[in-house]
Amino acid sequence: MLKVRHKNKYLFDLKKGIRRILYSHEPVLKGYLKAKEIFIKRNSLPYDKDALFEKIFIETVSQCNNDCGFCPVPSKGEGSPEGRFMTEGLFAKIMNELAGLSFKGSVAFYCNNEPLMDRRLPFWVKEAREKLHNNFFYLYTNGTLISLEGANQLFETGLNRIIIDNYDDEHRLIPPVQDLMDHAASLKGEVILDYRHKNDYLGNRAGQNPNPGVVLKEPLRLRCVRPSRELVVGYDGTVPLCCADGLWKVRMGNVQETGLKDIWFSGHFKDVRRILWEADRSVTEICRVCDAVNLSCPKGARI
Ligand code: SF4
Repeated sequence: MLKVRHKNKYLFDLKKGIRRILYSHEPVLKGYLKAKEIFIKRNSLPYDKDALFEKIFIETVSQCNNDCGFCPVPSKGEGSPEGRFMTEGLFAKIMNELAGLSFKGSVAFYCNNEPLMDRRLPFWVKEAREKLHNNFFYLYTNGTLISLEGANQLFETGLNRIIIDNYDDEHRLIPPVQDLMDHAASLKGEVILDYRHKNDYLGNRAGQNPNPGVVLKEPLRLRCVRPSRELVVGYDGTVPLCCADGLWKVRMGNVQETGLKDIWFSGHFKDVRRILWEADRSVTEICRVCDAVNLSCPKGARI
């Protein structure tokens, strides 16, 4: 099954232009985000301090091979490529713990990385599927390393969905994605193709966007539910505050040292979640400057 989003270049450019205006003027941005928050509040699930995360992001490789203007991660990818891959032991530990928790949520095999840089990915998906039979498995990729064979291998081992963010400022498909589209009828699972631009503006990403628009002078008074819904695990077991924290500036624990459940229900994590739910973003250095607001899991959403 194939879905295509944002194919119309003119509509895309229009939306991109509007986003740029919104994110360039602080008063306009605050009004826009406030309106968005009202909508989100109406559609959000209620706060439950004892609830487990609904989604886990796992970076089996914590690197990216792209250079989008809005993303801080290429700088995180510096250093030895060999050193930024998750070990089999750590992955097995995470899966065993999720199974032990009877985790029902979705598993995202990506976060601030390019997951297809890890050639072991079908093996990870298979191993995860053996432990988590009914969970929803998916990933986002920039498509630079995708192929029909690779995509189908992932579907056959248990992945439910692949979302391709096709980055090209001229709004064309990059060659590997074009090739996949030419053979879309042979896909064995769900693919969503999203046209994206490297020079787009998608918020300041917890203040880590290398090309920030507005630099907030004071924290927004807006609820953030992201740390109440999701858990992120990096290649070395690092658990950053949220998926917007691409540079892992605020660390909540490490899965190599502590169990997922203990990290999630630690006093510190619980305090941060509650304070952010109460719309106080002064709680961490990155929340203080973060302009993210579209962070809720609306009722019924799976990813
Ligand atoms: S306010 Fe921003 S940095 Fe803080 S938890 Fe929410 S998304 Fe992450």
